[in-house]
Amino acid sequence: MRNRRLARSFLGGLILVGASAAAFGVQLLSRSGRAELSQPIPDTQSSEALDLGGSELGSSTATPEQPPPLVPSEPLPLRDPDHTPSSEPAPAADDILQATPLPFSAQRRSTTFGKASSFKDALEKSAGLSKEEATELIDALAGTLDFRRSQPTDAITVERDLEGKLTRFEYRAGLLQRYEAVRSPSGKLVSKQVDVPIRTVRVERGGIVAGSLGDALEGLSLGRTLAGVFSEVFEGKVNFSSDTRSGDTFRIIVDEEYVEGTFLRYGNVQALEYRGSKTGVHQAFWHDPSDGDGDFYDASGRALHGGWLRTPLRYDHVSSGYGMRFHPVLKRKKLHNGIDYAAGTGTPVRAAATGTITFAGAKGANGNLLVISHVSGYESFYAHLSRFAPGIKKGTKVTQRQLIAYVGSTGRSTGPHLHFSLKRHGRFIDPSKQLNGPGLPMAQSELPEYRRKARQLAAALSRIQAEQPKPVATQDDAPVPLDSGEEEL
Ligand SMILES: [Zn+2]
Repeated sequence: MRNRRLARSFLGGLILVGASAAAFGVQLLSRSGRAELSQPIPDTQSSEALDLGGSELGSSTATPEQPPPLVPSEPLPLRDPDHTPSSEPAPAADDILQATPLPFSAQRRSTTFGKASSFKDALEKSAGLSKEEATELIDALAGTLDFRRSQPTDAITVERDLEGKLTRFEYRAGLLQRYEAVRSPSGKLVSKQVDVPIRTVRVERGGIVAGSLGDALEGLSLGRTLAGVFSEVFEGKVNFSSDTRSGDTFRIIVDEEYVEGTFLRYGNVQALEYRGSKTGVHQAFWHDPSDGDGDFYDASGRALHGGWLRTPLRYDHVSSGYGMRFHPVLKRKKLHNGIDYAAGTGTPVRAAATGTITFAGAKGANGNLLVISHVSGYESFYAHLSRFAPGIKKGTKVTQRQLIAYVGSTGRSTGPHLHFSLKRHGRFIDPSKQLNGPGLPMAQSELPEYRRKARQLAAALSRIQAEQPKPVATQDDAPVPLDSGEEEL
């Protein structure tokens, strides 16, 4: 278990006793390699008086006999269920919240929004505020906090002085959204959104594959979602469903982002390597050009992805390819007219190529469907989406790799995945034969800087010792296809 960094107070000098609870999981990797916050947790309450006997940090009234049980009352850190970093990064000064200096607080009460029917209800019933206090607080928070977005797991903390007067209010919705209202010397409650510093830690790890790459990543306490980065980056070069062998090794250099010692998400993946008996050696390095979007390149500076059509997402594995298949549910042979990419709900889906959206909406077995028309009579189809990206509708022009939607399981689907199809002049064709043609070399002007950086990253990769992952419970391959194969596109 990781050190929860309990010994630190983030409240600018005031150490508080008590533990509230609210914790936050993390899941989804987006195209940029970032994972997005998703879901929070259980709901507990605590209400404790502070130790007044000199518990103020640096206070001259503190005595040596003072017991040291000082635990900041902050949400219990949870993390990506996938992710258990093996080493706790050292605390950094910039990771301490820039909280407003506080008036003296004598009591603190922590709770969650819970099942309250309204924000006012939560303040009065869960947090124990009087009607007048609730009204005053709601006025103070107007324009700072949008109550309509409150979730049952949001954490509420109320602090009062010795006379019981409300001195500070804090509201946390996830690791990054924090708001507070503090009683100013003039007696007025002043609210603001609290800036939450994110600390980035670069991690260099390598492992030996025994089962799947996902199992090996998990066995090293790395997020399983990183397997999606490998499969997307080496698409067309390494088939991670069929070409991996026991004894293969992988190496990765990736940034992890933390808030107060709690893992928030993965930042950019800087470098990847896969070495396999069947696959050979593949390396990829991230490069942000001085203009345009960053991408992965090989050591010579050629883009790993190219062609006019690109894989539209980071997926865990291909659960079903294009072609005839015997459908175990329908008990007959059917043409599967596309590729099924298994990926978590909410995984970003990108336009495979530049074009114009001709359909974006619900359509029978497809669930939420998006269709893009491209040059030369091509059309690409994206089915079972959970939702569309903002601004995406019929008539919208999109460029290759633009965020268009999110993976889901809508329509006739047994699990979250993207069904991706391609038509030319109105007939289905096998997308895998069109995807990810040879990549273009990067601009000459970028090359000197890229080569320098890639050399450093390659040297760093070569220093990474491949570890033996701990065994993990292997996930059985689902025998049932993720979709019915009857999408009528
Ligand atoms: Zn399908």
